Amino acid sequence: MFKKGTDYRMYIWGDFHTHTNFSHGKSTVFENAAWAVQRGLCALAITDHGPASYWVGIGSVEKLRSIRREVERARRLFPGLTVYLGVEANIIDRDGTIDIPDSALKDLDLLLVGLHPRIRPRSWRSGLHLLLKNPFSRYRLSSRSKARLWNTEALLSAIERYPVDIITHPGYGFSVDTEALAKSAANAGTLLEVNAGHLKRTWRYVLKAARAGGVFVINSDAHRAERVGALNEAWRLARDLGLDERRIFNVAATGEEIRRRNAMIAARCRRKDSGKRILLGDIMPKN
Ligand SMILES: [Zn+2]
Ligand SMILES: [Zn+2]
Repeated sequence: MFKKGTDYRMYIWGDFHTHTNFSHGKSTVFENAAWAVQRGLCALAITDHGPASYWVGIGSVEKLRSIRREVERARRLFPGLTVYLGVEANIIDRDGTIDIPDSALKDLDLLLVGLHPRIRPRSWRSGLHLLLKNPFSRYRLSSRSKARLWNTEALLSAIERYPVDIITHPGYGFSVDTEALAKSAANAGTLLEVNAGHLKRTWRYVLKAARAGGVFVINSDAHRAERVGALNEAWRLARDLGLDERRIFNVAATGEEIRRRNAMIAARCRRKDSGKRILLGDIMPKN
């Protein structure tokens, strides 16, 4: 699980969770890409909030087409950087339903899923949980365990139902059964995010998930271009926690390995046919 000694020649080659002004980010796709290049990254994902987010979402699924155009433009302008189109989808029900219809999923390169409080739920019951019960659950033990059950069930079902590449900021704001999530995610090929912005509040979760066999990706969750790829502090913290870099998707030692992983995502994007989709976690070396 943990590796003794760290290979400091390894470096972070991609940022797979960034926002733009298509949702509530401050910068454009172009600006995010320019900063990614500046920081020496080879891969960048544009992942704005799904349409169920109040005030901060993309508004409608159709907006993804406009973002795709910008992503393609950035790809042409920065040939050394592979820019992917993803979305940070919201869970809107206990059964794991997300706010992106199946018809739109195939047009995405990456699918990120997270639990967020201020969203348009699928039912009033889910709304009650996400908006009210969950935030207040910390005050009563019985409601805390009920909330945890709801959150865990929703995340596990989402992983089962959809080709989820990354669970965003797990453990942040929503209590979950970390062990169950880490195991299911690793089995499914889903990565758990080490969120650079929230790591100081979620490091205990990361430790627990690592012990349970979780596989990770370190992302900025940047809401302005200057934060894109600003991942060194989070990585240092992850190393201090003893996280094995071989279990972090976007950390690699050789250009060869980076090219291989990037090429596999790109190949997957081209082959959007039927059959089980290879997820980011499946691309990890199996040793
Ligand atoms: Zn989020
Ligand atoms: Zn985000």
